[in-house]
Amino acid sequence: MFVQDDELLLMDINDTGLAAFNDDPDFHTQEAAPEHTVEEIMYTDVYICCTKAACSKKKYEDGECPNCAARDSHQNTARAVFQLRDGRQVTAFHDELQKLLARDLDLQSNDSLLTQIIDTLPIKFTGQISTNTIRNVVRK
Ligand SMILES: [Zn+2]
Repeated sequence: MFVQDDELLLMDINDTGLAAFNDDPDFHTQEAAPEHTVEEIMYTDVYICCTKAACSKKKYEDGECPNCAARDSHQNTARAVFQLRDGRQVTAFHDELQKLLARDLDLQSNDSLLTQIIDTLPIKFTGQISTNTIRNVVRK
C-alpha cells in the first residue's frame, strides 16, 4: 500500500509537475500571506521619534531619545493597535500603517490620525504578524 502511494507521488513530481507547483500563485499566497480584517481600532499614537537609523524611530520620552539621548528631533511618527477579526491585537508602525491605509499619513495630531483610519474602514490586508507587529502589509 505505502509502496504504491510512493510510486504515485514520484510519478506526479516529474519536471513539468514540479515547475507548475512552484509557479502556482495560490500556493504562495496561502502559505505566506493569509488575509486579515481589522475589527476594531484599539489605540493610536502620534509621537516624536529619534531620526537616527540605529534607533529605528524610537519614541522620545520627556523630549529625549531613551536610546541615544538625542534631543533635536521634530519628526512625528505613528503607531496604531488594531484588533483583528480573529481576536489578535496587533501593532502597525508608520510605514506599515501607511500601506494599511493606502495613503500618505497626515501626522498633525492623534485625532487626525484616528480620523484617517476611520475614513478607510473596512480594512482588509495580507501580511506577516510577528511578535504582534504587522509587517509586509498589502492592502486588499
Ligand atoms: Zn536615538
